[in-house]
Amino acid sequence: MSCLFCKIVEGSIPSTAVYQDEHCYAFADIHPQAPVHVLVVPREHISSLAEIGREHPVLLGHLLWVAAEIARSKDLVKGYRAVINTGEDGGQTVDHIHVHLLGGRHLTWPPG
Ligand code: 5GP
Ligand code: ZN
Repeated sequence: MSCLFCKIVEGSIPSTAVYQDEHCYAFADIHPQAPVHVLVVPREHISSLAEIGREHPVLLGHLLWVAAEIARSKDLVKGYRAVINTGEDGGQTVDHIHVHLLGGRHLTWPPG
């Protein structure tokens, strides 16, 4: 198993847990781009949004619900951003699908 986020999910690479359940694991990003920067990943290895199958939408919805729950727990009442970078042009650097939860500062648009 060579996937970085699979190793983080199984615990062989340490991380700072934020939330976990039977479907997903959420942890602090190692290079935070905002005061709150959490990655929500499914326990199942899915390489990217471009690879999801017909069986995955419920799981993806769960990841977004978890991101919203974490945002509520961290009092991000002024808003936040949930992002799924996809593929080379999308800026994806780890090939295990993940939702970035970014908040705690004003985020500009469009992104770079
Ligand atoms: P992507 O660029 O694929 O959308 O996001 C990958 C994210 O994973 C980046 O924000 C990066 O900082 C984070 N990351 C990469 N390696 C590690 C690691 O070993 N531990 C943690 N906690 N985050 C990581
Ligand atoms: Zn993986």
